[in-house]
Amino acid sequence: MRLLTSLALAMTTLTAAAASCPPDALGTSRTLTLPRAAGAWGTAQHAPLPGLAPKEVVLTFDDGPRPESTPLVLKALADQCVQATFFMNGEPMARHPELARQVRDAGHSVGMHGFRHDNFAQLPAEDQGRDLKAMIATYTDVLGEAPPAYRFPFLAESPVLMKALDKLGIAVMSVDAGAEDWLPDQTPQMLADKLLSQLAKPGGGLILLHDAQDQTARALPHLLQVLKAGGYRVVHLRWR
Ligand SMILES: [Zn+2]
Repeated sequence: MRLLTSLALAMTTLTAAAASCPPDALGTSRTLTLPRAAGAWGTAQHAPLPGLAPKEVVLTFDDGPRPESTPLVLKALADQCVQATFFMNGEPMARHPELARQVRDAGHSVGMHGFRHDNFAQLPAEDQGRDLKAMIATYTDVLGEAPPAYRFPFLAESPVLMKALDKLGIAVMSVDAGAEDWLPDQTPQMLADKLLSQLAKPGGGLILLHDAQDQTARALPHLLQVLKAGGYRVVHLRWR
């Protein structure tokens, strides 16, 4: 009897979770699970991410976690039942470990984006290696697992770190499209127009946004609506 009660309770919880996702939500259409391995993806610099169909997009957010804006991004994603990937910097991760874990615990994937946000192409090799070491240590300490992927700050890939990441079996993630949301004073419509225009050529792929930007956090509900109206489907990228 007790078993039946807990079963009924579990089913109610499941139904409640499903019900909390509105029928007209954008939703996550499927999960693409990649093996942990070296590689470099994103047509801005490399080959397209393998396994994505036309009109499929992977949402990625850089430069967090940031208490002023990341929770708003999490809410906008949850409201549309969408899973994304967050490329976090080590410094804010170490300052706000609970927020980093909140992102992961909400079902999103987490990659690395440099301990500091340096342009590694302009740094001595020794400093680059030190930054990667600090980044990996912070990620492992905060999330309790090994990092699967890395995106270079400013997408400024350096031969030294490319070689190190390859040796460690960590994937490098570039981009296919973005909204230039680091530019000041962008309205939601300006960001949406830029995103759609940048998506037109690749037809889908890795979308670069910034959860550390207030304007992006504010615009995200609109951007998700626009993606849905444009017939794009969100794929949740994971690593096993
Ligand atoms: Zn960045």
